[in-house]
Amino acid sequence: MPLGDKSKSKGIWNNVLEKSEKKLANWKSQYLSLGGRATLINSVLDALPTYMMSVYPMPASVRDRLDVIRRNFLWQGNCDPNKHKFHLVKWNEVLVSKKEGGLGTRNLKIQNHSLLMKWLWRFASQEQSLWKDTIKARYGMETRWISNIATQPYGTGVWRTIRNLWPKLINKCTIKIGDGGKTLFWEEVWAGQVSLKASFPELFSLSLQKVATVKEMRDAQGWNLKFRRPLNDWEVNRMVEFLNILERYKELSNREDKLLWAPDTQGRFSVGTAYRNSQRTHTQSSYWPWKMIWKVKVPFKVACFTWLLAKQVVLTQDNRMKKGLDLCSRCFFCECETETINHLFLHCKETVKLWQIFINKRGISWSMPGSIKEALACWNRDGNQSGHRERWKIVPACIWWTIWLERNQRCFEDKSCSMEKMKLKCLALFYFWCKHEYPHEDEDITSMLESLRSS
Ligand SMILES: [Zn+2]
Repeated sequence: MPLGDKSKSKGIWNNVLEKSEKKLANWKSQYLSLGGRATLINSVLDALPTYMMSVYPMPASVRDRLDVIRRNFLWQGNCDPNKHKFHLVKWNEVLVSKKEGGLGTRNLKIQNHSLLMKWLWRFASQEQSLWKDTIKARYGMETRWISNIATQPYGTGVWRTIRNLWPKLINKCTIKIGDGGKTLFWEEVWAGQVSLKASFPELFSLSLQKVATVKEMRDAQGWNLKFRRPLNDWEVNRMVEFLNILERYKELSNREDKLLWAPDTQGRFSVGTAYRNSQRTHTQSSYWPWKMIWKVKVPFKVACFTWLLAKQVVLTQDNRMKKGLDLCSRCFFCECETETINHLFLHCKETVKLWQIFINKRGISWSMPGSIKEALACWNRDGNQSGHRERWKIVPACIWWTIWLERNQRCFEDKSCSMEKMKLKCLALFYFWCKHEYPHEDEDITSMLESLRSS
């Protein structure tokens, strides 16, 4: 635990920034898909400053710089920076977990805070250590769990920032009462879900033991409660309620009180649970078909494409026009409607023929939903009766990827395949992805399609 104030200076971060930039420059990322770049960002770039982040608060300016590097790499790769590429999804949406609609790219601020909170956890739950004693001596203790807030204007760098995270930690903790020696009777949460002060404010205001620990409120006979004056008749009922709660704790053990980290079932703090827990509060809770995007056995770059589709940001003609590009908005397949995401991938009378292969095979009736998100949800629901649910879930990505490859050929290379050939390509993808993920020897495409039938 570094306590010196110099550690906060930006100098120590320059190295991290340099390394990250160099690392990215070395990747031949112009050949990588969005999925490939997302993987690199998550696996390598984020790992770089982890050691630093678990020890030092990251200055906002460094974080911003790293975010710019990461964001540009995600959307631009190492392409010529003068060649403009669209950042299709807002960066703060990219940082959200996959479950909640993002790409699961690490949020550096939350990651940094979660790593630093570990020090607070250790401080509160470890018996003794040199660094803890040093902090105790330097700042004094606010409660038996944590030091005072570091208010001195200088010389307090690292601990000051870490100490400020304490409310975030303690608000997610409950106390498992042992001998009651570390826990404040009124202020801290040990009996029930909130503090006794919050549950019984009128009794608290009468108490003469406002800062006593649980242990100090006890004597050999039991609870030793002192109030400013005798209770009025109308206060007696509340007192009975109060005593009923305390009754549950009439036997105290001789073990030390312990903090329990609520987000973990075992009550143990971990950086992972802290990260997920603080990230969750940053997002809305509307339905998002994340399993149909990320839990489907297709190549990661294809899953990323499905993600962009569900986000409605793939650069179809209408989206390009909104960004001021291209004038022709006609669908490359039917040549009569405007090319929108919903048209091209769901409703076009030509591309719908790809869906029919699978729908006919299953013998179900299917009416195409209005959006990609709904289509994924419905397809997933229909898969419940499929003989091979996991394979059924591959189908939408398979169709959409086929459409997109063909569409780009028609758009940019002026080449086109017939619908029959597209169907074959789509089936070949399906075959290949199934084969790759569910290898059954000698299984041919016919039996693979058969396996989709209702069982
Ligand atoms: Zn069309």
